[in-house]
Amino acid sequence: MKEDLERMLPRVVPCMNVVRDGERTCYFMSSGRDLLRCQGRLVPALVERLLPLLDGTRTPAELRAELSGTIDTASVDELLRLLLHHRVVVDAGPERSFSARELEAFASLLALLARSFSNPYRPFERLRRARVVVVGDSELARELLSALAECAIGTIDLVMDEGLPTLVVPQPVHVRAHPFAALRTLLPGADLVIGVQDGEFGFTRRMRELNRLCLGLGTDWLEVRLSLDAEGWIGPLHTPGTACFECVELRRRSHLATWKEQALQVEQVERGLLVGKRLGFAPFQRHLASMVAVEVLLYLTGLEPTRLVGRGLLVDLLTQESNSHPVLKHPACPACGQPPEERLHPWGDEEVRIERTLLEASGRE
Ligand SMILES: [Zn+2]
Repeated sequence: MKEDLERMLPRVVPCMNVVRDGERTCYFMSSGRDLLRCQGRLVPALVERLLPLLDGTRTPAELRAELSGTIDTASVDELLRLLLHHRVVVDAGPERSFSARELEAFASLLALLARSFSNPYRPFERLRRARVVVVGDSELARELLSALAECAIGTIDLVMDEGLPTLVVPQPVHVRAHPFAALRTLLPGADLVIGVQDGEFGFTRRMRELNRLCLGLGTDWLEVRLSLDAEGWIGPLHTPGTACFECVELRRRSHLATWKEQALQVEQVERGLLVGKRLGFAPFQRHLASMVAVEVLLYLTGLEPTRLVGRGLLVDLLTQESNSHPVLKHPACPACGQPPEERLHPWGDEEVRIERTLLEASGRE
C-alpha cells in the first residue's frame, strides 16, 4: 500500500467545493456526489496548506518536503490516505498516458466515470483500448457508430455492403469500414460485436450469417433491432451456451399469428423481389442508438453487470416503456441445437417431458 501511495500524483477531484463552517477547524467538502464534514486540529493545515498543493504534479515525497515544518511526515501520508479513501483526491498519474486532445474531447465522459470509480482513468483506458465491430447497413447502424464514438471506444469497425458513409466522430476514435466478406477476419479479438437490424426483413440473412460465424468462433455478440412498430430491442447478448439469434427467431415466430405471411415476405426480400421496409424515423434511430451505446459503456467499463445475457430489453419508443424478456434456447434451433440424428425425438426436453411420479409399489399388479 505504501509503494502504491509513493507512485501516485494526488490531485483534488474536479468540482470540489470546500466551505468553512463557522469555526476554523470545521469545513464542508462537496463534490456534487458526496458531502463531507471535516473537523479537528489538523483541518486548518489540511485545507490551507495541503489541498492547494494537490494539483497532480507532486509526488507524496515532494509534498512531505514542501510541508515540512507545517505538517509532520506521518500526518501527510495519513491525510493523503484519508482523502483518497473519501475520493476527495485521485491519482492523476494515469491521466498522463492520454493526450490533451483525448482528455478535452471526453471530459464529460470522465466526469461521469468519476461518479462511480475512484480512478476514472482506468475504465477510460479500457474504453480507449476497446475494439467494437458494428454490423449493419442502415441509418441506425450509422447512428450507433456516432454514439459509440462519443463513448471514447478506441476502434470501431463498421461492416456494411455499402461504401463508408460520411461520419463526424471525435478525432481520437478510429473508424474503419469493411465489406461484409471481411467479417470473419474482424471477429477474433473484438471486445464486442453488435448486429443491427433496422426494419423487419431486410437484414435477417446477414444477421443469421453473423450468428453462425459467432457460434463457430465462440464470440459474444449483441443483437439490436428497430421494428416497424417503433419497438426497439436491445439484446439478447448472445454468449456461448445461451439462446442464439435463430433461437430468438423461433421463439418469436411461435408468438406470431401471421407468421406464414411474414415468412413469405422475408423470403421475397431475401430474393430481392421486395424491398425491406424500415420505419426510417431519425429521432427513434438516434434514441435507440444512444440507449445501446450506454449499454456498451456499462459492459466495457464494468460500471454495471450486464442484464442482457439471455435477455432482451424491449423499449416502446413512443411511450418510453420498457420490459426485459428472458429468451431460452430452442431445442430445435438449426444453428445451435443438436443435429437431428443425435436427437431421440423430433422435439426437445422443453416441449415434452414425462416423469414418473407414482411410487413403484402402487403400480404393481
Ligand atoms: Zn440457437
